Amino acid sequence: MKNLSGKFTPIMMFDVYQLFELLFDGVEKAREYIEESEKELKKIADHKWGNSNCYLKFNGEFFQFLISKEYDGEIRLHVWSKHEEVLETSFPLKDNKKYLENLQHHVHYIMSRYTQGYIICSDCGEEHKRDEIQNNRYFAGIYCEKCWNKTWKAIEAKETYN
Ligand SMILES: [Zn+2]
Repeated sequence: MKNLSGKFTPIMMFDVYQLFELLFDGVEKAREYIEESEKELKKIADHKWGNSNCYLKFNGEFFQFLISKEYDGEIRLHVWSKHEEVLETSFPLKDNKKYLENLQHHVHYIMSRYTQGYIICSDCGEEHKRDEIQNNRYFAGIYCEKCWNKTWKAIEAKETYN
């Protein structure tokens, strides 16, 4: 098998329901399980990657996601499309079923709106048509006209592209 190793990219694919099934069992437990599974897959495939290779499948589209543990112990969920960040949210420090149920609805809603052409401004959180604000970008963020002109346009302009 040796000369066949490293020839494919292993990914982990979930739908929103599957991901939340894991999270309802404990957010930290789910995070560790995903992290461990990635390590195992990496070993099997002899694949070296830095990014998360976890994906959410939604309405036929694929979204990369990461469940991160921050330095202060906070656990966050990040979801990206090919183009930009679709959502970023924190989990409560203690597992809370009601909160997770609401979060599942929220994730489902945001992603379904995204696939219909709408996106949340990375600053104010208001929903906008993706087409109308797609040039207002800074790294993975996308901003509405108001936030772009108020803050992000100047920040983006200061970047040196060399
Ligand atoms: Zn905004």
